[in-house]
Amino acid sequence: MEDWKSRYATAIICMDGAFTGGVRKIMKAIHGVLYVDIISQPGIVKVLAENINFPKLELIKEMIEISVVGHSSRAIAIAAHHNCLKNPAPKEKQLKQLRWAMENVKKMIDNLNLGHLDIKYTLLWINERGLPEEVHISTNRCPFSRELVFNATT
Ligand SMILES: [Zn+2]
Repeated sequence: MEDWKSRYATAIICMDGAFTGGVRKIMKAIHGVLYVDIISQPGIVKVLAENINFPKLELIKEMIEISVVGHSSRAIAIAAHHNCLKNPAPKEKQLKQLRWAMENVKKMIDNLNLGHLDIKYTLLWINERGLPEEVHISTNRCPFSRELVFNATT
């Protein structure tokens, strides 16, 4: 266990500006960090889940390395959102994509020889009201989400 606290967390999220603010706030609230590195591509959860667009995946991996190594981030959020232009799949499918996206991010972390670090993952769904819901994977591997209650002023 690490007894220091990083000032940075990481958020992997679509470029859609209507949803990035909520993710930044919730990561600050959950992890007590000052800054949240935003790793962004249109429909990034789909890119990560499908795992076929190698130029984009390499760029995402490079950004993760800078955030985790350079900024000592130990908390990574992966967020999907309502009404995504690049990923118009319904919520149910996007929650499944989130799980695959997390698996592939963990593989990237291993690939970067960072697998020994104690990194916390948060999966988020940003709903039609712009509010974050934390996504959990149940024992039957079915994802579900629950709205987070937090003080938006922190
Ligand atoms: Zn989007």
